[in-house]
Amino acid sequence: MSLVKYLGNLGYGTRREVTWLVEQRRVTDRDGCMLRSDQRVDHDAIRVDGDPLDPKPGSVLMLHKPVGYVCSTQDTTNPVIYELLPQRFRARSPIMAPIGRLDLETSGLLLVSDDGTLNHRLTSPKSHVPKVYEATLAEPLRDDAIALFASGTLRLASEPDPLRPAQLECLSPTQVRLTLHEGKYHQARRMFAAVGGHVTQLTRVAIGQLPLGAQAVGTWRVLDEDERALVMTSTPRVGPPTTP
Ligand code: URA
Repeated sequence: MSLVKYLGNLGYGTRREVTWLVEQRRVTDRDGCMLRSDQRVDHDAIRVDGDPLDPKPGSVLMLHKPVGYVCSTQDTTNPVIYELLPQRFRARSPIMAPIGRLDLETSGLLLVSDDGTLNHRLTSPKSHVPKVYEATLAEPLRDDAIALFASGTLRLASEPDPLRPAQLECLSPTQVRLTLHEGKYHQARRMFAAVGGHVTQLTRVAIGQLPLGAQAVGTWRVLDEDERALVMTSTPRVGPPTTP
């Protein structure tokens, strides 16, 4: 792919704008030598105004979504997650898009990528990749909530099928950790509501084996290969002990 098309796809501008950047000698190699519009150059070797390029096509970002942001390209009422990312990310082709969604009032780990295959593998209804949430509840939960969530029989209003078994751990009387293996609309909040609970704060703290960790609220970074592999790694299922 020519340099102009490549930079255009990365959101650096229209064909005309990128051609102008090249003509202005603002697109160079690592040594500051000007590149030609029709040249094919390795991503890592290209500089624009002396800076390395944005993440490569196929990159996966971890964003710590704050409460109050919408997982969408535009919204008439609230800020959107793209306001937390470089402007160019919204202009890329393919676009850097959130993988799944967190609702307006939910914070935490959101993956953003132009990797359609990964997106499909994580969001398809057949995906079992665990997503872990920590919630604060207004009141302690009923005693049978752990068993009910784990039973695979809990059915949410307007859902045709019961939910897959989910793991609920109590961290304190009103602090819980919930591991889901599917992603229905407002699933965590609706599950707690189904047992009479009310969520006052909800954060996604892990996807697969990838933790949100110490990523500061509102910031993002590119995942490395090992971290990407962790996303697709489900918690190993521990079976009953085998008798020798
Ligand atoms: N469950 C919810 O209720 N909200 C989210 O954003 C994600 C899971």
